[in-house]
Amino acid sequence: MQQRPYSDPDATWGHRSAVSTRAAGSFYGYKLHQVVCAITGLPLAWRVETAKDSESTFAMPLLDTVKARGFRPEVAIMDMGYDHEAIYADCEQRDCHPIIPLRQTPAVKAGKHLPPVCEHGEWTFAGAETKRRAAKWRCPSGECSPASRWIGASRLHTLIPRGRPAGRSSTGCAARSSGRTADSRTSGRCCPCGSGGSSGFGCTPT
Ligand SMILES: [Zn+2]
Repeated sequence: MQQRPYSDPDATWGHRSAVSTRAAGSFYGYKLHQVVCAITGLPLAWRVETAKDSESTFAMPLLDTVKARGFRPEVAIMDMGYDHEAIYADCEQRDCHPIIPLRQTPAVKAGKHLPPVCEHGEWTFAGAETKRRAAKWRCPSGECSPASRWIGASRLHTLIPRGRPAGRSSTGCAARSSGRTADSRTSGRCCPCGSGGSSGFGCTPT
């Protein structure tokens, strides 16, 4: 009898990020890409792909499916695997604010994601305008001229500012309390050979 290299020839090798119970690494199998409602935990859209495909490939098709099903996600919480400029722009284009942890890219190491600073201190967030796709930042003492300026939405400057305690951002708060928030999760599915597992924060470690 011929021995096959893997129990499932359709599966592929891929990479998964670390979760609390195990380190990042390679695995053979499939990934379940799904959008889950952050309030109810119920899946809103999903697809199973082999392990080699990156999470970000399926983020927007899934978000479009969620919208086509009549949901209006205002905020999408994603893990670091989705931290690509295109994801931010594509999300905003769909009237959905992305919340994604930053990878340590050169721009981040150079501090380009930090609030503007002047001689009066660090500028404060003064609200975002979704239509304008920009957020307003203000000199802490108001002595600068101009005392505030708009910064266009990007990976480095999101409309829901980073590093704020939960509930302090009015945009995020409204979306959460509306019950229409969705987060895009990637979780893994064990392949038949028993390897594989989960990727991203949406997994259920076993
Ligand atoms: Zn100032």
